[in-house]
Amino acid sequence: MADGPLLVVSAHVGDFVWRAAGAIALHSQRGFEVHVLCLAYGERGESARYWRQGMSLEQVKQARHREATAAAGVLGATLHTFDAGDYPLPETPELLDRVVEVYRSVMPSVVLTHTERDPWNQDHETAHRIATRARVIAQAPGYDPGAEVLGSPPVFLFEPHQTEYSGFMPDVLLDITPVWERKLEAMRCMEGQQHLWDYYTDVAKRRGVQARRNSGPNLGLAADTMGEAYQRLYPQVAMELS
Ligand SMILES: [Zn+2]
Repeated sequence: MADGPLLVVSAHVGDFVWRAAGAIALHSQRGFEVHVLCLAYGERGESARYWRQGMSLEQVKQARHREATAAAGVLGATLHTFDAGDYPLPETPELLDRVVEVYRSVMPSVVLTHTERDPWNQDHETAHRIATRARVIAQAPGYDPGAEVLGSPPVFLFEPHQTEYSGFMPDVLLDITPVWERKLEAMRCMEGQQHLWDYYTDVAKRRGVQARRNSGPNLGLAADTMGEAYQRLYPQVAMELS
């Protein structure tokens, strides 16, 4: 991964944990900044357990903020929350501007966000559009002239919940074995979505098996490899094919 800040644009507070906690922990372990931007808390759409406990909207948001803060701390990331609302996440010019500002202040070397399609959760599609549009706008010299413009950080799309129907075709398998315990700890911070702890442990095992299967014999990945899958949005630029 790139030698510089990592920016994760997540629709809701749980998303960055299930889909990208391994990449986040690996990056911060290498000594680079990681910024996680959660556009909304997922208070209405991804907090069913808290609603069943009788919490108010404000209580749900506070609980989810605590969870995300704890998970980001475990992973070594700085958390930014915009509380833009969910179900639906509104796609407004103001929100887009706020995300551009984050790009221009973080100046990420690599970006992670949602897939373009997710028929089960249109907030994720909205987050994808905002994240990718903001990246392009942050590159434009005519936007807030005089400010430093963004380069061209690669964008990796993380794994949606229902992969095939979301058109997700992974082309990068990340070995997250060294930080698996931290991902597990971060997942367990998300108490409002306990039903996903085992599910995403199983996903990591399957992606680990695929990483082993696709490794050269000299890499010798261990039998208990855990993985995360990503799909590149833009072409990889290289000086050699490897
Ligand atoms: Zn979500």
